Amino acid sequence: MPEERKCSFCGKPFMPNKYRPNQKICSSVECQYKRQLGNMAVWRKKNPNYFRYKEENDVSWKETCRHRSLEWRKKHKEYLKLYREAHRLRHRNYMRDYMREYRKRKKLEKSDEA
Ligand SMILES: [Zn+2]
Repeated sequence: MPEERKCSFCGKPFMPNKYRPNQKICSSVECQYKRQLGNMAVWRKKNPNYFRYKEENDVSWKETCRHRSLEWRKKHKEYLKLYREAHRLRHRNYMRDYMREYRKRKKLEKSDEA
């Protein structure tokens, strides 16, 4: 039985995936994106010579690297797009509610005058 956990990025409770019982991060776009960035940084720190070593020993590795970074950049862009869209939607909802309240207030003010 999986237990509910708190996401280590946003702090919201979530249910871990049954195939990944050690999951610490919820499945929201923002948190998955942050996780990916974090993973890259940790991995690079642990393997500082990995790219250099491979490059010297494997000619095709350069190609693989280039391809991989292109793939990553493409993914990165998609994440950013999703992130911005999610943000925009939140902002739009916020503004809509704000304007609704504003109009309501204006109406009340007017009826007070009358
Ligand atoms: Zn989260």
